Amino acid sequence: MNLNRFPRVRLTHNPTPLHPMTRLSNHLGGPEIWIKRDDCTGLATGGNKTRKLEFLVGEALEQGADILVTQGAVQSNHARQTVAAACLHGMKCHILLERRVPDHEENYEQTGNVLLNKMFGATIEYRPAGLDMNAEAQEACRKLEQEGAKPYFIPGGGSNEVGALGYVECALELNAQINQQSLVFDRLVHATGSTGTQAGLVAGLEGIHAGLPVLGICVRNPRQKQIEAVHGLVSKTTHKLGIPDIDIDRVDADDGYVGEGYGIPNEGTLEAIHLLAKTEGILLDPVYSGKGMAGLIDHVRKGTFSKNEKILFLHTGGSTALFAYEKMLLDA
Ligand SMILES: *Cc1c(COP(=O)(O)O)cnc(C)c1O
Repeated sequence: MNLNRFPRVRLTHNPTPLHPMTRLSNHLGGPEIWIKRDDCTGLATGGNKTRKLEFLVGEALEQGADILVTQGAVQSNHARQTVAAACLHGMKCHILLERRVPDHEENYEQTGNVLLNKMFGATIEYRPAGLDMNAEAQEACRKLEQEGAKPYFIPGGGSNEVGALGYVECALELNAQINQQSLVFDRLVHATGSTGTQAGLVAGLEGIHAGLPVLGICVRNPRQKQIEAVHGLVSKTTHKLGIPDIDIDRVDADDGYVGEGYGIPNEGTLEAIHLLAKTEGILLDPVYSGKGMAGLIDHVRKGTFSKNEKILFLHTGGSTALFAYEKMLLDA
């Protein structure tokens, strides 16, 4: 699979590290747990959107765009990485932030990703919860065009078949590391939201017959809805790659760790965040990777991930948002 035929810029410090988490594994007394550190992709505190942006910004530049337009929740890691990528490539960036999370802390709209967005010079509009945010962002693009700008629209989470190429690339990178280190993993677990990460991984891993099943831990959607959404993007991505489509039974998701909803950590999320901090010195986040790890931990405790397996957690980043959840973290 050759991704060099797609326009691309370099943003990621890769390969990202792949290492065992011995203290966590011993603490849980279950399978050997490893981690791939896509929290260390390098752009403005890192995270999974950076890989997607390599292909999205590549296409934006090819089309002669001068401003990136995207959307997300107020503490969107995707928005923050997009704004930083725009700075690095001499473009402006306009972001629409949805007030998706109810009952947040006082400084939720000031600190974390919001602070960094402002430092990178984004222009920001806010929206109430529940709108079609991609439609709102496309409307903002039309306004910018009327003003003579050349906007490039990036959907929420960078999750279309262009952005998903970033996680096809991650699948290839991971497979090379697995081969170099003579490893075999039984399952890859990660937090799944706007679907680009899982769709790219499944397209890449299945496309090269890596034999590594992926389990997405939902952060928002019910299971069936998430599986169908991920598979929809898998199909578009395989079509773009020119490889055969992949069966929907290769897409698996677990919605048991969403709690009350998007951006609302529950007891399991907070336990996972504190446990990873104290055993491994690794920072998870309250919206995504904390829920992903809560799912992994619960499957170890339930025995569905058995003692003789090797489980890989893909850390998708997000620790910048910890500062927006300070009180909740200190109370836990
Ligand atoms: C966006 C995000 C995810 C989910 O990735 P998708 O491609 O949107 O499914 C997971 N973790 C973090 C930290 C994120 O910012």
